[in-house]
Parts: sequence; C-alpha cells; structure tokens
Amino acid sequence: MNGTKIADLQEKESLVSLFEEMGDEHVLSSLETPMRADAFDMSDEEKIDKIQEYFKAIMETMGLDLTDDSLRGTPYRVAKMYVQEIFSGLDPKNKPKVALFDNKYQYDQMLIEKNILVQSTCEHHFLPIYGRCHVAYISNGKVIGLSKINRIVQYFSKRPQVQERLTMQILNELKRELHTEDVAVYIDAKHMCVSSRGIKDTSSSTVTSGYSGKFETEQRRKEFLSSIHDRLEM
Ligand SMILES: [Zn+2]
Repeated sequence: MNGTKIADLQEKESLVSLFEEMGDEHVLSSLETPMRADAFDMSDEEKIDKIQEYFKAIMETMGLDLTDDSLRGTPYRVAKMYVQEIFSGLDPKNKPKVALFDNKYQYDQMLIEKNILVQSTCEHHFLPIYGRCHVAYISNGKVIGLSKINRIVQYFSKRPQVQERLTMQILNELKRELHTEDVAVYIDAKHMCVSSRGIKDTSSSTVTSGYSGKFETEQRRKEFLSSIHDRLEM
C-alpha cells in the first residue's frame, strides 16, 4: 500500500468517526433508508438461504472451520437473525399497526414517554447502537396506545441505521400517525463502533433530537428536556 492510499484511508477513517460523533449536526444522504427497487422480490426464506451462503463464505475466508459443531449452524443463525429480527424493520409488512383513541380527558398538555429502549445497528459498521429514546407529543384530539410508541421506535431501530435518520424517521412516523405536528424525539445512544473499535471510547454517547410544531418553541423544548433531565445526567 503506498503513502497516498494510507492517507486516503486515514482521512476516510477520521471522517467516519466524525460522522459517528457529530450528533445532530451533520446532513444525511437521505432521510429514507436507501433501498433497492427489488428489495422485496425475494421471500424471507430465500433471503435467509442466500445470506446463510454468503455468511458461510465470510467465515471460511477468515479461516474458520465450519465442520466444527459450534460453528456449523452460525451462518443459518446469523441469516435468520438478520431477516427476522434485527433487520426486520426494513420490510414495511412488519410496520406496527397503530390504533388511535379519542382524547377523552381533553388532556392538552404534552405527553412524554421516557426511556424507551433503543437497540439498533450502525449501517457503517454493522455493530450495535444501544440507548434510550424519549418521545413527547401534544394530542390533536387523538391519543395513541403507549406500547405503540415503543413499537414504532423498535420498528425503525431494526434497520441498519444512522442515529440522526432513526430520530427523524420516528419523528415523522409519529407526526403522521398522530395527525399532529407537535412531536419531539430525543435519543441518547452508545455506538459499539465507537466503544469497541476505532477511537475505543466507552464513555461517550451520541445525542440526537428532532422537534416539530409547538416543540420548536424554546419554552416547550425546555419543558420536555427538563422532564427527561434525570436521564441526561447519567
Ligand atoms: Zn459505526
């Protein structure tokens, strides 16, 4: 490898760690998850078969002996986990169905759901992102079942992600489902690609937030942030 290539690589590396830590400052390529036009031509079973083959090739390339009892089933387990679990949010058929209820109590203040578990995967390294999401909205006459907010967070987390995009996808989905602009989303998460490789920082976390409607005013934003403050001091 010549000097220029090494410099290129170093530049690329530092750019990636910059992206990881830039919080909500950097501009994404797209708010939509970049998908191929033929993304759903194959069945889940066909995808599992293919990924299994490819993952077996990766393991063998690394020199692992797949005749070993412990490793033999790994390509299948990884393929099944990708399609049915950790990347199941790529498929719109897995999107949670949301039922709305009338806001019978005429509660017109913000409703906050705190500490929703986020378990996602960094799309740059395919390593875990894990943390907490806090969501608030002001009802426009309708309310949503609380567990549905968790399910929406989970659905968009189960994709290869960038934290900023995850934040905006949750925000936009809640706006759409709740028929209101008044939504806030805040995510504080750790990236294993930052803690276990690269810069190897185990203490830093990345904070991203998205505000719309009434949450764009400083007072509402303050109210929201102060009520999740106990988590911020962790
Ligand atoms: Zn990463």
